[in-house]
Amino acid sequence: MIFHLPLLQTSVHAGSSVESGHCKLKRAIGVSRILEIDTSTGPRYGRVQFKDQLLPLKHKEVVLTFDDGPLPSVTKSILRTLKRHCTKATFFAVGKMAKAYPELIQRVYDEGHTVGAHTHSHPRDLRHHYFPYSRFQIERGFQDVQTATGRPIAPFFRFPGLHDYKEMNNYLSDRHIANFSVDIVPGDTSGYGPARIIRNTLSQLRRRGKGILLLHDIKPATAAALPRLLSSLKAHGYKIVHIVPRKPFKPVPIALMNMLYQDFSHKDPKTIIGGLTYRQLYGGRSSKKTKRIYKKRSRKFRGKKYSKRSSWRKRRY
Ligand SMILES: [Zn+2]
Repeated sequence: MIFHLPLLQTSVHAGSSVESGHCKLKRAIGVSRILEIDTSTGPRYGRVQFKDQLLPLKHKEVVLTFDDGPLPSVTKSILRTLKRHCTKATFFAVGKMAKAYPELIQRVYDEGHTVGAHTHSHPRDLRHHYFPYSRFQIERGFQDVQTATGRPIAPFFRFPGLHDYKEMNNYLSDRHIANFSVDIVPGDTSGYGPARIIRNTLSQLRRRGKGILLLHDIKPATAAALPRLLSSLKAHGYKIVHIVPRKPFKPVPIALMNMLYQDFSHKDPKTIIGGLTYRQLYGGRSSKKTKRIYKKRSRKFRGKKYSKRSSWRKRRY
């Protein structure tokens, strides 16, 4: 209660202030409603990874999400735009980034946005790694972001590159963490300029009608596109939904966290953990054994679930 009430108050205020014309910007998009997410069942949302598990959104409703930050030059500009539009978003912060810029992630939180986590150091593809390493990345990521924020954050998680795998998905469910994929991918990590980002967002939204929008608060083009993007969304009748958790994230006990950390804090690259050396696990040179594991997983992932995979898989998120 203590956790989400301030969020609710600010959000409701922002939404109603637009309706009553108190938002300074005349055509501000605001917040149309708040969607409370019960994470006790470890839900999964978003069509790109979880085809049949969509967020319960109505037609023309959009959820704004920003990954990979915070990064001062970009996140500050994005926060300014969101404020001008009296609207709210969800930030999937990278642990290391939050640790590097704690005031910034605190500001994100203070301005009423939802803060979730996106691993500790954003490994490019967790399927390359052994399960305990992925688990460490998740738990450490949440711990970093929560410590930097200084307040309880949301149990909302997104896989780097949207590269999930079964054990990890089950682990997140067991931890009562909501696993967020995406619906609308404008490709702002592909080097597109603001105009293309806006065009892609609108064309995908025309097709899908609603969804979770994936943006990155480390890309200057995204920050540059945002004012016009929000105005265009408003002009086309889209509404912003602010997602908040019913209950805050519950960190693992410190003793367990230390145990997880010790698994990966060995300096000797030849230390063997679970049959693989530290270097093989911790993203050193790609070894034959890691490659074999990856190949096996990739084969599995090229199975029916992802048979219609398009070019988005090749890009970086
Ligand atoms: Zn990412």
